[in-house]
Amino acid sequence: MGKTVSIFNQKGGVGKTTTCVNFAAGLGLKGKKTLLVDIDPQGNTTSGVGVDKSELELSSYDVLINEVPINDAIIQTKFKNLAVLPADMNLAGAELELAENENRFKALKKALAPVVMEYDYIILDCPPSLGLLSLNALTASDTLIVPLQCEYYALEGLSQLLGTVRTVKQHYNEHLELEGVLFTMYDSRLKLNQQVLDEVDNYFPSKAYKTKIPRSVKLAEAPSFGEPVLYYEKYSKPSFAYKKFVDEFLKANR
Ligand code: ATP
Ligand code: MG
Repeated sequence: MGKTVSIFNQKGGVGKTTTCVNFAAGLGLKGKKTLLVDIDPQGNTTSGVGVDKSELELSSYDVLINEVPINDAIIQTKFKNLAVLPADMNLAGAELELAENENRFKALKKALAPVVMEYDYIILDCPPSLGLLSLNALTASDTLIVPLQCEYYALEGLSQLLGTVRTVKQHYNEHLELEGVLFTMYDSRLKLNQQVLDEVDNYFPSKAYKTKIPRSVKLAEAPSFGEPVLYYEKYSKPSFAYKKFVDEFLKANR
């Protein structure tokens, strides 16, 4: 049975999407059959794996709201072992529409049920909010990975994040576990980073991954070519870092 992992942090711009795309691509390269699920109306994961958002016939919106069978909406990417359930702006309306649905927290879990046996890993890209889409992702997940930008404000909002995880565990998904915390945009030359690392260690003892993702312009460039950096610049520092992260994740999941 596949493992479902949410990449979650309600803070914007911390590297959720970049992590989703490269984590999933890395799992695929390791021979793991992987499904990326885009449930952010921004659709950055979708375009990040080379799928044109403006030409979607079906998307995660249709699967969540209109109960379209998920396999009708899933698209094979050109990358090894990597498929995507795409998203576009339509999904912005889903929060309101879900609110009226009696299954509002479990719609995604229900939608994914037919394919959890087909994939080794299902990776969910959450929007930067604590709204219903994120709650659906956490309800549908076995674990979550929290990307944290190494900056002074990184810890702001962490107690809200943990509160949300607790609520989901209590009411909708008692099995949800924190898989780990991944530092993104890391610059070892900055002293501030070290402070943040130490503080997070207090917050989440032994949950921080050893691998840290360095700040790199290549990660900002790759999406405009619709490629994970593991393909776009496979011998670059950020590519090696994400591959190392995948190894660390897989080792913990053996
Ligand atoms: P949102 O909350 O809006 O969904 P996000 O958490 O998904 O954002 P990303 O879109 O992955 O964050 O990253 C935000 C911006 O930072 C993007 O322009 C991305 O290309 C860039 N970025 C991500 N990781 C790195 C990195 N390690 N080094 C440099 N730039 C990065
Ligand atoms: Mg994003």
